[in-house]
Amino acid sequence: MPNKRSWAEPWKIKMVEPIKMTTKEERLTAIKEAGYNTFLLKSEDVYIDLLTDSGTNAMSDRQWAGLMLGDEAYAGSRNFYHLAETVMEYYTYKNLVPTHQGRAAEHILSTIMIKDGDFVPGNMYFTTTRLHQELAGGTFVDVIVDEAHDTESEHPFKGNVDLIKMQNLIDEVGADKIPYVCIATSVNMAGGQPIALQNLKDLRALCDSYDIPIVHDMTRVAENAYFIQQREEEYRNKTVREIVHEICSLTDHATMSSKKDALVNIGGFLATNDEDVFMKAKNMVVMYEGLHTYGGMSGRDMEAVAIGIKESVSDNHMASRVGQVQYLGNKLIEYGIPIVMPIGSHGVFLDAKKFLPHLSQDMLPSQTLASEIYIENGVRTMERGVVSAGRNKETGEHYFPKLELVRITIPRRVYTQAHMDVVAESIAAVYERRNEIKGLKFVYEPEYLRFFQARFSPITN
Ligand SMILES: *Cc1c(COP(=O)(O)O)cnc(C)c1O
Repeated sequence: MPNKRSWAEPWKIKMVEPIKMTTKEERLTAIKEAGYNTFLLKSEDVYIDLLTDSGTNAMSDRQWAGLMLGDEAYAGSRNFYHLAETVMEYYTYKNLVPTHQGRAAEHILSTIMIKDGDFVPGNMYFTTTRLHQELAGGTFVDVIVDEAHDTESEHPFKGNVDLIKMQNLIDEVGADKIPYVCIATSVNMAGGQPIALQNLKDLRALCDSYDIPIVHDMTRVAENAYFIQQREEEYRNKTVREIVHEICSLTDHATMSSKKDALVNIGGFLATNDEDVFMKAKNMVVMYEGLHTYGGMSGRDMEAVAIGIKESVSDNHMASRVGQVQYLGNKLIEYGIPIVMPIGSHGVFLDAKKFLPHLSQDMLPSQTLASEIYIENGVRTMERGVVSAGRNKETGEHYFPKLELVRITIPRRVYTQAHMDVVAESIAAVYERRNEIKGLKFVYEPEYLRFFQARFSPITN
């Protein structure tokens, strides 16, 4: 239902966690010690932590109570069955394999489904998703609409698949070289942009005619559903829960990081309607994660996920969750700061190419901007640009993505409106002094997912 009220939260605060306010000197020392990589900062040295919305959620009193209902049996825990039933009821998938995080599910599914030389189309890459596709011998092919790469386009569904790109790939390599198409809901790397249900239906029809299954990266499916409710005429009077159900029903398999939408601090799963994939996944999960009825999770954690899934599809929860993100984005717009439009579901993305136009992409503008925002006022954000994109495995060259962004991600149910004001003020202060900012260069570069552990030093000239 379109929500006419303010985005004010449908909860009140029962417990608080003190956070530290630091001086500028302390922050300059901390960022230097962290190699100018916000991932390497100690959380203690951070005032407002907007590094990620992953695993940083505040659980409800219901979820905390659920922890006490943990059945820590090695096999067949009651909480596993509760989770499996919840996944079937809310997400439609028939078979569940729990994993400790989303990437473990990606690893298992990629290994089972991808053969050497295959092509895996997707609506933009995600770091761990593409890495596991490549490790399994596949090549990722971006089939998202061009608008997704344009930070100024106000397209309401920048997560849509370009069906012509998809058809061209099928014509070029043949459907038998495409083990599946991977569809992310609320596309993270595009700035939290949704895919339309109509687009997903059209993709389903195209895939059916070539027998290509759809894998759903459903990490933020409820946030995507909220945007469908707000923007897709036909779904205006449907609940988030109903829309989530319909999205899932159009796909065959799913990988989930419960650390986002599902309002917990750890967890993930693989879900599938295919019995053969299910059998193989159950075989693999015992090697890498644990028995197929816990897969790296404790019973109590599976219980918290099951409860979190139910809370995540509430219309009021989603209105306040996405409403807070929109509030921050609109504040930044008022300050004239260049951000990706439309404002996404889980965060606001600064356009570092426009923020720091005097830095070329090999001077790592997003990495630089993230470290400057930390120095300003202790707000932690992260790079989503050339550092995250990594190197081409064939040529060894940097991937230079069109989008050079700083991600300001909002944890769910954690910070207040006043915190959002401080964040906007701090970024505005950096914007004032943007012309004095110089770039960064690599001093240590890990081989895989380099953005997590890379170290940098300031460029001096
Ligand atoms: C976080 C995330 C993953 C990986 O999940 P982890 O739980 O961090 O391993 C995969 N896809 C998307 C879109 C994500 O945001």
